Amino acid sequence: MNFEEKKKKLVEYLIRMGYLRSKEVINAMLKVDRHLFVPEKYLNEAYEDRPLPIGYNQTISAPHMVAIMTELLQVNHEHKVLEIGTGSGYHACILACLAKRVITIERIPELAKFAERNIKKACLSHKIKIVIRDGTLGYEDEAPYDRILVTAGAKDVPEPLFKQLKIGGLMVIPIGEKLSQDLFVIIKEAEDKMKKISYGPCAFVPLIGKYGWKENDFQ
Ligand code: SAM
Repeated sequence: MNFEEKKKKLVEYLIRMGYLRSKEVINAMLKVDRHLFVPEKYLNEAYEDRPLPIGYNQTISAPHMVAIMTELLQVNHEHKVLEIGTGSGYHACILACLAKRVITIERIPELAKFAERNIKKACLSHKIKIVIRDGTLGYEDEAPYDRILVTAGAKDVPEPLFKQLKIGGLMVIPIGEKLSQDLFVIIKEAEDKMKKISYGPCAFVPLIGKYGWKENDFQ
């Protein structure tokens, strides 16, 4: 089976399982080739529904998690989206198919470079800006955001991210312990009012930064 056939089979599986529901997100997942975002030695596994290592103890998320988070985020073509945790750049490309513009933040410079190359191969560089910094601080220069996606496990909602979200905007974020969290949708109802809805357990690598875990929490 070639990559195209494997990708179609994966998307059919995600639809059957109920992870993919809207035609926009289905089209985005059909459009972006996951094999462009994994290290060469995992090419044959690119369309399996599981996370894969991308170096520096980090992973590209499992396709079902990308599908669930993207469906929950309800992105439309007028939205400016902020993603925390660029990793391979795959999820940023899925968002770029749905949004007007995507800003994605990565704290590990080598991964930001890896993502930059991958995003270029996917021909989506014109819609995505990669920023290298601690993403728990957000990115004030382009705030406010319609949508914020955090793809690493947080201790709580980082204050600057909530501030930089538009009123009425949504944030999807895993919150909990170091290695296991619950997936939350945060709705910013007013400047100081958030509604938090849990969508069940998940397991992400930690969000490390000023408003997240500290590196020495893991030594
Ligand atoms: N969205 C990614 C993709 O499509 O490949 C997968 C993200 S991976 C599960 C989590 C990423 O979050 C890692 O690349 C990690 O370095 C990054 N990360 C952790 N803490 C961060 C922080 N404070 N700011 C920015 N990136 C962070």
